[in-house]
Amino acid sequence: MTKLRRTLSLFNTLTRQVEPVVPVLEGQVSFYTCGPTVYNYAHIGNLRTFLFQDLLKRTFRAGGYEVRHCMNITDVEDKIIRDSQGGLPEEASNADRHAAMRALTERFTAVFLEDLQTLGIQPADHLPRATAYIPQMIQLVQDLAAKNLAYVRDGSVYYRISGLPAYGCLAHLDREGMQAGSSVDADEYERDSVTDFVLWKAAKPGEPWWDSPWGPGRPGWHIECSAMGMELLGDRVDIHSGGVDLIFPHHENEIAQSDGCLGHQWVNHWVHGEFLMVEGQKMAKSAGNFFTLRDLVEKGVDPVALRYAIQSNHYRKVLNFSFEGLRAAENSLKRIRAFRKRMEGEGQAGGGPWKEALAPEQRLAQARDRFWAAMGDDLNTPEALAELFTLISDLNAQDDHVALTREERDAVLTFLDEADAIFAAWPHEGTNLDAEVEALIEARRAAKAAKNWPEADRVRDALKALGIVLEDRKDGTTGWRRG
Ligand SMILES: [Zn+2]
Repeated sequence: MTKLRRTLSLFNTLTRQVEPVVPVLEGQVSFYTCGPTVYNYAHIGNLRTFLFQDLLKRTFRAGGYEVRHCMNITDVEDKIIRDSQGGLPEEASNADRHAAMRALTERFTAVFLEDLQTLGIQPADHLPRATAYIPQMIQLVQDLAAKNLAYVRDGSVYYRISGLPAYGCLAHLDREGMQAGSSVDADEYERDSVTDFVLWKAAKPGEPWWDSPWGPGRPGWHIECSAMGMELLGDRVDIHSGGVDLIFPHHENEIAQSDGCLGHQWVNHWVHGEFLMVEGQKMAKSAGNFFTLRDLVEKGVDPVALRYAIQSNHYRKVLNFSFEGLRAAENSLKRIRAFRKRMEGEGQAGGGPWKEALAPEQRLAQARDRFWAAMGDDLNTPEALAELFTLISDLNAQDDHVALTREERDAVLTFLDEADAIFAAWPHEGTNLDAEVEALIEARRAAKAAKNWPEADRVRDALKALGIVLEDRKDGTTGWRRG
């Protein structure tokens, strides 16, 4: 049986349009994502980007594609050098300097990979460290120089942006404002200072270095991704992704390097995820709203709920992270898990024939089509999940009256698994539902005793949402069953 392959479209930053992804090799998507610079803990804004990329990858896999994913680890860079060399004496050898750098980057690479695992993010197929690809980076700089797209100045090598007429195509830069001929050594700079950028940096005193045709030095950040991406994914890549903050200069410069060297377009689809705010504010250490994953886990946040809270928002919208939003995510997950549990069980004799009875098979097929239409339309998770919840309401209501058959229940479970292959948020393992139901029943009893009828009704509705039917007995106690 050939697997159904769904058409999936994504917004392409290059063209500013939602376009279908048509892989160069049929059915096989090559996917490059810029990985972390490993000198510190990733914050939840960084992790949002990795979660969106995991969603993208899982959607293509669930949609019938093979995905070859390469995510680099940036383990040599300005900030890494700044943070790793401080404790060394001036006369430290180059080997000592490399060792100090490696000690820092290995520690935070391990931390990063643990964070990904905690969040249920699937590992990349290739996870190259930049320091393992120095010869490829040097070769790429030499190729660019041979094409007159690079020049040497004081032991450093710079990209000549005037040599590439397409420079600025991704960030939609105004070529008038570019200061071709002047150059910048920093890896990160603003778009109002568009200049020739550095490919290879001459070693300064106190920095680790590698030998090169231009003397001792180290790669610039941008050349790292071009070299690793072309080495591991080839000359034509289907999707390249990162946060919106990477559009300029990092991705613009990757295009300049790779397209400049290859003489053709390297990447077809550039896909960027938006920022994350915390409680309506920009996240900042000084504002006290700066969170790493570990900070949140310490506060008792369930990483799966965090994953769901982030992924249930559209990746191209600024996400306002809040603890209220996390609670809402937890409740949504409870609802899906309770419904799943209900479908795993047998139907009870319901209230008999019901005039609004649906054909569950048809209703399910409709929900599946709509779910995939939403996911295929630029990963529209809010709409896809809305379809899922409408299905849950409809089938819960029907099952209250006319119990679904075993076959119908199994078909529903298959769809829930299909959707969970993307969201990875409602696992099969038993949840602590019984204890929760008992706690809610107790809360309702207390509310009734206090004659707090609105609260008693609210709790009854919460139980109903979990698929629980209450039975008030004559002796004043309350029993319950899964409806
Ligand atoms: Zn990159």
